[in-house]
Amino acid sequence: MEKVLLLRFGEIYLKGKNKFSFEKQLLDNIRFAVKGIPSELLRTRGRYILQNIPEDRLFEAESKIKKVFGLISFSEAVKVPASMDELKRAIEPFLPDGGTFRFTVNRADKKFPLNSQEIAIELGGVALELRPNLKVDLFNPNKEIFVDVREEGHAFIFSDKIPCSGGMPVGSSGKGMVLLSGGIDSPVAAYRMAKRGLKMYGVHFHSFPYTSPMAKQKVIDLASILSEYQGGFELSVVSFTEIQRQIHENCPEEYMITIMRRIMMRIAERLAKEKGCGSITTGESLAQVASQTQESILVTNHTVELLPVFRPLIGMDKEEIIHTAREIGTFDKSIEPYEDCCTVFLPKFPVIKPKLEWIEKAEAKIDVQGLIEEALKNVETISL
Ligand code: ATP
Ligand code: MG
Repeated sequence: MEKVLLLRFGEIYLKGKNKFSFEKQLLDNIRFAVKGIPSELLRTRGRYILQNIPEDRLFEAESKIKKVFGLISFSEAVKVPASMDELKRAIEPFLPDGGTFRFTVNRADKKFPLNSQEIAIELGGVALELRPNLKVDLFNPNKEIFVDVREEGHAFIFSDKIPCSGGMPVGSSGKGMVLLSGGIDSPVAAYRMAKRGLKMYGVHFHSFPYTSPMAKQKVIDLASILSEYQGGFELSVVSFTEIQRQIHENCPEEYMITIMRRIMMRIAERLAKEKGCGSITTGESLAQVASQTQESILVTNHTVELLPVFRPLIGMDKEEIIHTAREIGTFDKSIEPYEDCCTVFLPKFPVIKPKLEWIEKAEAKIDVQGLIEEALKNVETISL
């Protein structure tokens, strides 16, 4: 008996004018996710079937499928020839030892000799013979076993629906650029935008030798975890050392972080444009730190001229962000103790409500454009 995976997508995304491009993107993404695992992907009405998977690779295929945005759930099903004898033989592994159950039958093949209800009654009878402790409950069963008799001469039996990630197929919304630090927040922000269909690119600023190569490696590892949700991840690593040094030496200490953020945003926008990204994403959350007040965000945002800035975590509590970080597998990496560039030269009392004029005046003490051009000359691109 062959085991296959039945994959379900969010119906609403596959309607209307964009249906075909969404669906093509989703199918491409599924194929990419299971690349390397021998299998065949079929489209049928209402869902996809991943079949011919070697039994010992099934678990691996399932864990990849769970991360494909645009799928809402999957079931492990057995595929049998569509006959009552075969069905009766195949139901045993699906039967619980006790409690209540029901069969829910869908018969696409109207030429099959029994109708859906007759199939359910016959299979129910066999089940009760095999497991005399079981009881049928049509309305609120402990276990619902689905039988799907297809037109192509075979049938599927399955019971559990395992949730996938939901969202939109990655790429269906275009590309986005995330400012990726080694912290807890920005990987979660990247995940949330990828879930809305953006293929994310990342930019990370590091301040070697003030920050260690381990700090950079941590971000590469985070990017690698994110790559599993979107079939790859391109990270641009920009040296921020000279910029930080210049700000430190020339600008008032309390404005350091604000000015750093403004320069990060400008560089991110340049890189985003270069890569064809239509937006910038950060991991900011309102009031989490001094640089995340309305006033600070206003002043930071002011530098971004052409693209929308997305802050998917803006209304989330740290606890909620941590919850997602754990779920998506970035948390343990994020809490490794290597410092990112923002902790170097950190002011004791950063400005909480900066005014644009103050910051612009302070910034005029350094050659912002020159520093940006210089930083952009030596971008290291890492493809994961
Ligand atoms: P995170 O957990 O994402 O580091 P945070 O709560 O530590 O966030 P900040 O340090 O104020 O917040 O950073 C706010 C946002 O600025 C980050 O979420 C990230 O998008 C961006 N950012 C900060 N530092 C860097 C960096 N070194 N490289 C790239 N982006 C950064
Ligand atoms: Mg941080």
